[in-house]
Amino acid sequence: MIVSASNVQEAIQRAKDLGASKVLLQLPDGLKPRAFGIFSELSKHFSVVISSQSFYGACDVGSMDTYSRVDCIVQLGHTEIPNLRYPKPIIFIEHLYERDARIEASAFQILRSRGYSTVGLAFSVQYRQVAEGVREALEALGLRVLVGGVDGRMKYPGQVLGCNFSAIHSVQAMVDSIVVVSTGTFHALGAQLSTEKEVFIYDVSEGSLRSMREEADRFLRQRFAAISRAAGARKVCIVIDTKIGQYRPSLAAVVERQARESGKEVVTLATDEANPRDYENLMCDAVVFTGCPRVPIDDGGKFSMPVLTPQEFQMALGIKKGRYVLDEIVAVDTQ
Ligand code: SF4
Repeated sequence: MIVSASNVQEAIQRAKDLGASKVLLQLPDGLKPRAFGIFSELSKHFSVVISSQSFYGACDVGSMDTYSRVDCIVQLGHTEIPNLRYPKPIIFIEHLYERDARIEASAFQILRSRGYSTVGLAFSVQYRQVAEGVREALEALGLRVLVGGVDGRMKYPGQVLGCNFSAIHSVQAMVDSIVVVSTGTFHALGAQLSTEKEVFIYDVSEGSLRSMREEADRFLRQRFAAISRAAGARKVCIVIDTKIGQYRPSLAAVVERQARESGKEVVTLATDEANPRDYENLMCDAVVFTGCPRVPIDDGGKFSMPVLTPQEFQMALGIKKGRYVLDEIVAVDTQ
């Protein structure tokens, strides 16, 4: 991911336009090695402090203690979540991965060999430009490409977040398969879990295309094992994450009632960080996490007890049956 001088200049100009004099700088871990340089540029114009917290998405702008003494926040590497009401002016500076010249139409031949003719195209936001190249490559193979519309949590058609696959839901009935342009498996695995259509990741760092089906099947076996362990839980912690874009106390209240009606002992907790030790100290048998859906999904292995999404817990209680339903966030409660 590249932080260009023009990105930093854009942040400076937008903060000046806001009349800011004190700025809080928030960086994802991947951009922290650039912190000294960016800090020094911003400091020529403003009083700047960097938050040392890790920011995984625009759903998180930190606690009020960190932002109450500044005029605006500059958050690098993320795209705003349009339907959130942020408590301060926030300048989101996106970073587009440079379009990769290595996109070969032949990389997508597997889609043709499986008989697919219409493909849904989605991307994580830093690969928005690369996705354009992928679209050209797909069309060069004679495939029809559809880019899905999104809900109010997303900024761009075709964009996916780890907690929102509205771009896929909107096209799944019209396509044979989906291609997600990203790196790693974070977004593509979520995409595969959100639809019955076959999802492929075009991994930008490798320049390769692969199906997510097997990985999703392996993943589902692990999740069903966690769901089955949680079914026998006696003491359950229901967790509300206080981050602005993950705040779902009304969902937590529904799950709490359902757990009580099923004879569980329940406590509801508020947190801004899911720390395994907290739940070990509480000696609970299962945790239901209503914040970022990726905490149970990606970090579940760090906990000694099963950590479930609300939908998974409803499966454990026997309230939801049938196909696995991924927890997605469309909107959150107002704080
Ligand atoms: S809730 Fe999780 S997946 Fe969604 S934007 Fe925040 S960090 Fe990303």
